Amino acid sequence: MKNCFIILAAGKSERFKSTIPKPYYPFKGKPLYLHSIKKAIESKKFSKIVLVVNKKHRKYIDKSLLKNVSIINGGASRSESSSIAVKYIQKKKFKNVFIHDAARPNFTISLIKKIDTYLKKYNAVVPAIDTVDSVKYKIKNTISNINRDNIYLTQTPQAFRVKHLEALQKKGSGKITDEASLFIANNKKIKFIIGEKKNLKITNIGDLNQNIVMNYGIGFDIHRLKRNKKLFLGGIKIPFHSGLDGHSDGDVIIHAVIDGLLGACKLNDIGSHFSNKNKKFKNIRSNIMLDKILKITRDKGYTINNIDINLITENPKVSKIRLKILRNLSKICGIPLSKINLKGKTSEKLGLIGKEKAIACEVIISVLNYEL
Ligand code: ZN
Repeated sequence: MKNCFIILAAGKSERFKSTIPKPYYPFKGKPLYLHSIKKAIESKKFSKIVLVVNKKHRKYIDKSLLKNVSIINGGASRSESSSIAVKYIQKKKFKNVFIHDAARPNFTISLIKKIDTYLKKYNAVVPAIDTVDSVKYKIKNTISNINRDNIYLTQTPQAFRVKHLEALQKKGSGKITDEASLFIANNKKIKFIIGEKKNLKITNIGDLNQNIVMNYGIGFDIHRLKRNKKLFLGGIKIPFHSGLDGHSDGDVIIHAVIDGLLGACKLNDIGSHFSNKNKKFKNIRSNIMLDKILKITRDKGYTINNIDINLITENPKVSKIRLKILRNLSKICGIPLSKINLKGKTSEKLGLIGKEKAIACEVIISVLNYEL
């Protein structure tokens, strides 16, 4: 195929004011940069995707999510990073290159397809939108008006013939904020197409926190204890005289977490995802079930905010197993330990739970999503 997609994520993230650099900050259930990669893959228009990163941020990259994506270190400025990336793909003989800022996660796959269609006829295709704001400009101390009808705000992805872009970059560009500027500065023709209002550039952490909604879900589960079975709680094997009986490993904590999560995301219940009539799920480890549900909820844009768990059991004592369980849940769910709580409750020796014949668990989960 003749197209390559370059994602620029090498900035220092200074204006973002977060310990997690902007490209790796969670947004709609996954790191910001991953939105652009997924859309590029889904468009099926690219044989190569290159992610340009700041080498100081490499520890934040989850390589398991980036099969077939080349990761290279960028430069000190956006224009330098762009030049490094174009040089990197030079030998691969692509006809066109799309350059995109990772800070714009909200473009659509149709925009990629539209740009691709225009590339058949034009050497440079750039999406742009008009502005409803009044615009002024300042030279020294004089402020003047600009007719907003003559204003274009350029967006990314922007697409170019590789050889044209490379030639201009070689000439030296100075500090430009997008490749369109380079073409304009050199009097080269650009086909401007209508961009997307929602394709905003995220600059501050506040840009990500707008339009967030929080939903809550409740989960409950109980299983009978059975002699000579392994006991699993919160995905951890716990030494005990009995284990929990059930179609799967009977892990009441994970089952209640799954139901709470499904409830918060309005996705029915655990039985509708893992029927106990399906032999495939016989003796399945519950953390595999939770992984599957997390994949579904992440794809729908949900991020877990917090989890609160009540484990109702006479024995084993929760204080002895708490930290191990919390650590494991934190790892599976990808949220910090500070966002999960586990409380132990006995049932005062009453009923099946009191006689150590069953363990029950209840959970409340809150999830975040974006309404854009
Ligand atoms: Zn269960």
